[in-house]
This record gives sequence, C-alpha cells and structure tokens, in this order.
Amino acid sequence: MYDPKSMKAEDFINDAEIQETIAWAESHKEDAELIDAVIAKAKLLKGLSHREAALLLMCTLEDRNQEIFHLAKEIKRKFYGDRIVMFAPLYLSNYCVNGCVYCPYHAKNRHIPRKKLTQDEIRAEVIALQDMGHKRLALETGEDPVNCPIDYVLESIKTIYSIKHRNGAIRRVNVNIAATTVENYRKLKEAGIGTYILFQETYNKKSYEELHPTGPKSDYAYHTEAHDRAMQGGIDDVGFGVLFGLNLYKYDFVGLLMHAEHMEAVFGVGPHTISVPRICPADDIDPGDFDNSISDAIFEKIVACIRVAVPYTGMIISTRESQKVREAVLNLGISQISGGSRTSVGGYVHPESEGESSAQFDVSDHRTLDEVVAWLMELGYVPSFCTACYREGRTGDRFMSLCKAGQIQNCCLPNALMTLKEYLMDYASDRTRAIGEPLIGKQLAGITNEKVLSVVRDRLKRIEEGERDFRF
Ligand code: SF4
Ligand code: SF4
Repeated sequence: MYDPKSMKAEDFINDAEIQETIAWAESHKEDAELIDAVIAKAKLLKGLSHREAALLLMCTLEDRNQEIFHLAKEIKRKFYGDRIVMFAPLYLSNYCVNGCVYCPYHAKNRHIPRKKLTQDEIRAEVIALQDMGHKRLALETGEDPVNCPIDYVLESIKTIYSIKHRNGAIRRVNVNIAATTVENYRKLKEAGIGTYILFQETYNKKSYEELHPTGPKSDYAYHTEAHDRAMQGGIDDVGFGVLFGLNLYKYDFVGLLMHAEHMEAVFGVGPHTISVPRICPADDIDPGDFDNSISDAIFEKIVACIRVAVPYTGMIISTRESQKVREAVLNLGISQISGGSRTSVGGYVHPESEGESSAQFDVSDHRTLDEVVAWLMELGYVPSFCTACYREGRTGDRFMSLCKAGQIQNCCLPNALMTLKEYLMDYASDRTRAIGEPLIGKQLAGITNEKVLSVVRDRLKRIEEGERDFRF
C-alpha cells in the first residue's frame, strides 16, 4: 500500500502507485481541461503531487507544454532571481566495495588506479580549489569501510574547514557518501556538514537490484531509507538525485517526487536539493549499454516539471553536461552548478589526461571556473558563492519556512553580490572583472529595501578595502 508516512521504502516508493500514476498520466496526456487545472494549481507556487507532476511531464499538447516551460521560468525567476550558486566536487577516495554497473569505481574494475588522499594531499587540493575561488564543496567518496571509513571522512572534513589560504576558505562542505547508520550521520552533523546528498540512481527496485548486484549498496531498502536516517541523525538538509538513463525516466521522475512527499509527510521538510545527472561515458562504461538514455528535449522537460512541482527545492547540474545543455536548463530551474570540476581523486593538483583517467565520469564542460563565471554573467546571471544560510543556522524546516514566506530572497541577492565581489577582487581575470563590476552595479537596483541597500554598498566598499566574509 502506498503510504508516504511509512518508514518502509516499499511503502513510500510504492511500485503499484508509480505504475498507476504513469498509466493515469498517459491516459490523460491530451486532456486539456485537466492539464489546465494542474497548471493553474502550479501557479499558486505551493507545488504539485506526484500524479499532477506526472501529468505535466507526459502532456503532449504543444501549447500546454510551452505554458509549462514558461511557468518553470517564472518560478525560477521568482525564487532564485538571476542567481546561480557555484560549487565544486572534491573526490577523496575511489576505493569501492560495490558493484554498480554504471560506475567505473565498481569493485571488479581492476585496471582503474585506486587512490585515497592523505590529509596533506587534501590540503593541497583544497588550496587549489580556494585559489580558483570556490567556497562550497561537495565531498565524494566510494564506499569502503576499510580503506575509507567514517573516521577518515570526518578527519578530512576537519582538515578542509581548517585551511585558510590567502583570502580563501571553504565555508560549506556538502557530503555525498554511501548510505550509513544514524550514528554516523550524527557524527557528520557534528563535523559541520551542510547537505547530505545521496543519489537513489533509480527508484525501480527490480532495476536497482540488477544495477547493484553486489556490495552493501545492493540493499534497496537500506539505500532508499538513508535520508530518513540522516534526518534522524540530526542532518537538516538532504539532497536527492536520480541517474537518468538507468531506468525509464517516467518511473524515476514519479519516484523522486514520491520521495519528496515522504520527507514532507514525515519530517515536515522536503529535499534541500535535487540533482539531475544523466549517465555519461567513463572508464569501463559506455552509455550505449543503457537503453533508457534520454534526449536533451526530454531532459529539459524533466527539469521544468521538477521546478514546477517543488518550487522551493534547489536543483543542481554538474559538468557531466555540456555548455549547451547547461545553458538550456539554467533558466528552467537549475539553481546550482559546478565549475572547473575535476572528477578524479587528486585531480585539482594533478589533472589527468584523458585515457589515464581515474575519474568517476568524463566531464563535458571543461572550462575553468573563471570562464564559467564570465559565461554566466554574460548570460545575465549572478554567480553566487554564498554559504550564508547554513552558517546562520537557516537549515531544514527553518530554511523552508523562510523560503516559503518569500523571506529568503532578502538575503540571497545581497549575499550573492558580496560574494561575487570577493571573487572578482581575489580570483577573477581582468576580463571577468570587467564584466562583473558593472553587473554588480546593475543588480544593486534589485535590492528594494533602502536600509539593506545602504549596508550592502558599505560592505562592497569594505571588500574593496580588504575585508571579507560579510553575510546576511
Ligand atoms: S556509484 Fe558509488 S557505490 Fe557505486 S561503484 Fe561508484 S563509487 Fe561505488
Ligand atoms: S542566502 Fe541562503 S538560500 Fe540564499 S544563496 Fe545564500 S545560502 Fe542559498
């Protein structure tokens, strides 16, 4: 039985309910009246149920689809303005005991070089990241209790936060590690992590078990219930993700939204972020082996429908996607992107050439962070290095209630402009600075509160004089 309040994976991600939802949405995909009613509900900005969102995803009426895209853009603008939050992944270790068939780190891959960074190597990687201008990291490791135990991850987080190179600092460490125990989540919380991110890969149990034949990750229920344990361990912000291309996208889209409903029903707060990776090439991995891969057009529709269904949830896209695809989905709902990423262990200090790669996947967007920042600004976006909420204790339900009350935006733009100013002063090329300074001037007009505006002006000046780390 489908039950969003149940703590059992097979109840809150209920296969029969997903199948029925898909069948129902398919049978109404040209039902203009019903689709209009759902679009009207979406305009209230309170989100949609998984059934309603599935109907929009499957809608085949061209004019309604244009409306859905238009609405996604409007919601994106209303909640996120022009801001795009920047982050980078940091791979600590690629030892892994699991057998995920789509990932080159799977245990049976004997030719990929296995690496685990020492604390000194982490220091060097973090300095390289700070020197690029990054303030927010997503920590990545494979699962290996012997080679990469939780104590190693905790020690690494401590190391990362302790490094202050020139004006650099990593101010938020999000963590993407394997499903673990409540006790370990508590330790991660105490170590000061931001969001705990765990991708479901696919919500289809049968397909999940085929894709994960061996190792602890093969336990579907343990994996699917991990975010619940993270919340029970005190982590307020959790991130979801599906690896599109592994299974039928309609199934995973519905599963993703049911998972969000479960979090709302049990903890009163939905996922902080949703990531939308697609399967891509890597050592030992050919995306052609996966026959559920999705076109760019479907990918864009998925992004738009997620944006409309969960307006308060941040959406993340990585450098797996090309510049072209990233550009297309930015205004449909993406609020965070990575830039200048290396997806190999130690890759920021020692970039690997293609062919000798220990990377988890091939990056499609090879530009430097400076190039990505300049590109975003040329498109009219404001790259933001803001990490304020987590540091001000605005997490979990506190964050969501501020967000739903529209209050969060009073902080976001000022923080984005101040952190962008820091970036321009400390790391940007002359060209990027020349684009950024007038952009900040123009964006100041978007701060309507006179008092806030005057504080921001003062702080921008103080950043020019050498002060750092202001935030609202
Ligand atoms: S996806 Fe994660 S758990 Fe699976 S093989 Fe890769 S690193 Fe290991
Ligand atoms: S103020 Fe909070 S919500 Fe806004 S960009 Fe900063 S961290 Fe994100």
